[in-house]
Parts: sequence; C-alpha cells; structure tokens
Amino acid sequence: MNIAQDSVVSIHYTLKNPEGEVIDSSDGGDPLVYLHGAGNIIPGLENALIGKAVDDELEVVVAPGEGYGDYNQELLQKVPLSAFDGVDSVEVGAQFQASTANGPINVVVVDVEDEHATLDGNHPLAGVELHFAVKIAAIREASAEEKDHGHAH
Ligand code: ZN
Repeated sequence: MNIAQDSVVSIHYTLKNPEGEVIDSSDGGDPLVYLHGAGNIIPGLENALIGKAVDDELEVVVAPGEGYGDYNQELLQKVPLSAFDGVDSVEVGAQFQASTANGPINVVVVDVEDEHATLDGNHPLAGVELHFAVKIAAIREASAEEKDHGHAH
C-alpha cells in the first residue's frame, strides 16, 4: 500500500542542517511512527511522503515555513534578572518554561547583562532549512481508535 490519509507510517530518518551536521536520527533505534494526515509531523515532510511505499527512500529539503517556522524576532524578550525567582545563576544556554497568554513555551537564555537576560522563545530549529533522508519501514491502515485520537498507537 501507499501512504495516504489515515495511514500509520513507520520511517527511519536522519535530519541534517544545511551545514550537513546531524540534528536528529532514528539510526540504531526504533523508527518514528506517525498517523499520516493528522499533523503529527512537520508539513513539509508529511507532504513529501504522500504516495510512497515500503522500502522507498527519499531525500527531502524542507524550508523553515514548512518546518518549525521562520525565526520570529518578536519571540526575543528582555526580562529583569529579578524575575528568575529561585534560580541561582542565569546563564546563556539555560532553558526555562515561560508562561504566556498562549500557554507555556520553552525559552532559552541567549544573552545576560547586569540586570537583564534576553530569552528566545523560538523553536531551536526555527529558521533552519531541514534536510531529511527518509526510508519507509512500514505502512498500515489506522484503527478507528487511532483516527479518533489523531495519533498512532
Ligand atoms: Zn490514543
């Protein structure tokens, strides 16, 4: 069968950035299993997999807009150090969860000055062109329950 809406698909993949560095990979582990058409994976990759069959191999280049989004300057925020209640030292690279009007987001400290830290709420892969190498490991029909839940079991 070929990948279509409501297929449960298992893929092995390696993800690299444009510099060729491996960002993520299923190598040596279990394949990634997802429900096709349910937005479980980024749109640029999901669209490229339509119609593929088991053992097909493909290379997919996904632009940021079809991946983890473009880099958004508005998600950079300067926060007084006094706001880091109970944190001993605020250092560049430290990660926190911040509560926003849209729910909690993960932020990373990108700059620290005397009284302020600059937090970046962008996804770590925002603005990054994604280079996937994918091999289809398995395809099956989703169960009624999986379709109902919107994910693979
Ligand atoms: Zn479920």
